[in-house]
Amino acid sequence: MLALQSLTAARMAAEIPGVTLEEARKVLAALTRGEPLGAPIAGVRRITLEALRAHGSVPTLTVIDEAASREDPFRKLVLETHDGYRIETVRIPLEKAGRFSVCVSSQAGCALACAFCATGRLGLQRNLESWEIVEQVRLVRATLDRKAGQRVHGVVFQGMGEPMANIDRVIEAVQVLSEPSGLAIDARAVTVCTAGLPSGIRRLARECPRVRLALSLSSARPAVRRSLMPIDKAHPLEDVLEAAAEHARLTGMAPLWAVTLLQGVNDSDEDARALAALARSFAEKTGVRPRVSIVPYNRIDDATDPFHRVPDAGLEAFRDAMASAGIVPHVRYSGGHDVAAACGQLAGRVPAASPAASPALHEG
Ligand code: SF4
Repeated sequence: MLALQSLTAARMAAEIPGVTLEEARKVLAALTRGEPLGAPIAGVRRITLEALRAHGSVPTLTVIDEAASREDPFRKLVLETHDGYRIETVRIPLEKAGRFSVCVSSQAGCALACAFCATGRLGLQRNLESWEIVEQVRLVRATLDRKAGQRVHGVVFQGMGEPMANIDRVIEAVQVLSEPSGLAIDARAVTVCTAGLPSGIRRLARECPRVRLALSLSSARPAVRRSLMPIDKAHPLEDVLEAAAEHARLTGMAPLWAVTLLQGVNDSDEDARALAALARSFAEKTGVRPRVSIVPYNRIDDATDPFHRVPDAGLEAFRDAMASAGIVPHVRYSGGHDVAAACGQLAGRVPAASPAASPALHEG
């Protein structure tokens, strides 16, 4: 049985016997409007509807909790897969009123064990299927007031899991999300964030050249990065940046570099200057200047968390030190802290303070 959310119109026509491309587009449009599978669709033959019912289904994820932040308009969904894994998805309000981005998970848990990340403490549970990624966007979309013009503008692969470790399903999901007769999300509004798997970066560049790349750096100083991100032992930053440079040359798009600042770990003047120097050298090599984001740390909220958030004055000092070295970073607002929806906090937990339910996030 095929999950119809994992199909573009072309794949639906190729894989379900007797379905024409035109009918497949109409079916996807109907599913996107929320119509049930098998209900009559103008311009779609009855024999096609029967083939869809015989070969396909529209499975979903169970919403365990939906937690709205009291601090900001972020909203987190905690979802459960059919085999009992919890994942988290975050609805992020964009600057333009009524527009939202969806931060999706690509795996239940994560094997990469970055020291500052709640998901990394879970270990890898399993890769998500492409329909499970797409379904997260559909479920967030269902929370919007579409009559009032609210809509999903973009998707960021920055929730639970390392997207490049599940790259086949991530690429399929991106293709489905940008399908014009379905959710129609412009691929240029999709960002895939990685802790640094060079082969995945190269595939993303080749197969989804309009999608933006984001890298979790942690530090431009190799020893500091390695202490925070074990993946650096297998794939040192130098190799990751070589793949990112190929991505930049092929796509012409500036990568986003994200650095979660940890007090006393990677927030010194020396760290700021090293990061600025690395960004300048990347720009010289590729002709594309990375967009550097400083992410304030969100504590994992348990007694074993060894890290502390850098106070606002320290964030300013770091930004100024980078600016005087020629690179002006952006300090990212990472919302939904009170419902553990902020970057680094996603772990499939239901927050105790929430009147409803909740899900988990990654640095990028
Ligand atoms: S930051 Fe991303 S790659 Fe690292 S452990 Fe968390 S989810 Fe995995």
